[in-house]
Formats: sequence, structure tokens, C-alpha cells
Amino acid sequence: MSQITRSLSNLIQQLTKLPGIGPKSAERLAYHLLRVHKSEALALAAAISDVRENVSYCPDCFNLSEGGLCPICRNPNRDRSLLCVVEQPRDLIAIEDSGVYRGLYHILLGRIAPLENIGAEQLTIERLVQRIERGEFKELILATNPTVEGDGTALYVSNLLADQSLAITRLARGVTTGSILEHTNKEVLADALSDRRPF
Ligand SMILES: [Zn+2]
Repeated sequence: MSQITRSLSNLIQQLTKLPGIGPKSAERLAYHLLRVHKSEALALAAAISDVRENVSYCPDCFNLSEGGLCPICRNPNRDRSLLCVVEQPRDLIAIEDSGVYRGLYHILLGRIAPLENIGAEQLTIERLVQRIERGEFKELILATNPTVEGDGTALYVSNLLADQSLAITRLARGVTTGSILEHTNKEVLADALSDRRPF
């Protein structure tokens, strides 16, 4: 790397920090960015800057938002008695795409993963409990991924909320064990939501 310029070496180093990008891929991407039209490379830089300056988490549900409450929390036509708990904002998008759910969401921003040292306190579970305690929800749908960790997280949340006076449900088993919500097809997800059952 001693033969390349300081700025190119810096770019390669930054790209190497991205998930799934090793040193070879980082080098290839860096040279690609030098080869394309300058405006194309600068548009990528501007998009990164724009998303980091303007996108934050909704203070109520932790969905992505551009300032204040997210569009779902702001929408007066959503059913405010239903709360669906998912792991990530992209799971919310998968459920929205299924077209059958009209309630609100709570995004955990992860799942309990002891092997990665991710515990309940690193997720938004405390805020979830606070939302439930306001007493407006009649049903909590646990839509964490049907993986070992997703199931464990759902169990943890349901135990935590066992004393609250609301129904706790889980997606029907149409969604295959081990599959990830965002990759589940729309119809299957719609059925799993419609056929949800008591946890
Ligand atoms: Zn929101």
C-alpha cells in the first residue's frame, strides 16, 4: 500500500470497515470510485452525508424518521390499540408490504444475543414497557424473527409484560423457523399475521 496516495489509502481503510467488505473488495471499490464520473462518486458521498445528517429514530417507535415522529406514528388512521414488535426497521417494511396490518410498531433495534453480548438493556425494551404501561394497547404482536434469538427475545418480552392487561400474540408458524422476516414472501407474511395466535 506504500505505492498509493494517502487519500486513496484512507478510502480503502474506511471501506474495509463496512460489513462484508474485505481489503480486496475495498481496493476494488476505491479504484471503481476513481474510474467513474466524478459526479457519480460525489453523489455517493453526499447520500451518505445526507442520511447521517437527516435520518434519526422516531422517539416513540424507533422507526427511521426524518425529524420527529415517523409517518406511521403520525398517521391518524392507524389502529392505536395494536402494537407490533419487530427487530429492525426493515422488518417493519416487510410487514407494511404485506398490506394487512394497520396498527403501530415498536422496533427493538436488534435482538437478545448472548453470544454477541447483546442484552435486553441494549435494545429499546425499556421504552416498550413504558409505552405499554400507558395502557392504550389491547394487543401486542411479537413479530421477531423465527430464529433461536428472535424466539428468545419474544419470550423475554412476553414474560416481562405478563402482568399487563393486554393480549400477547405471535405470528402463525407459516413463517418457516429460521427464516428472516424481510426475506419472507408477502402472502406468507400476510397469512402469518392474520392467523396469529396467543403466545
Ligand atoms: Zn414512529
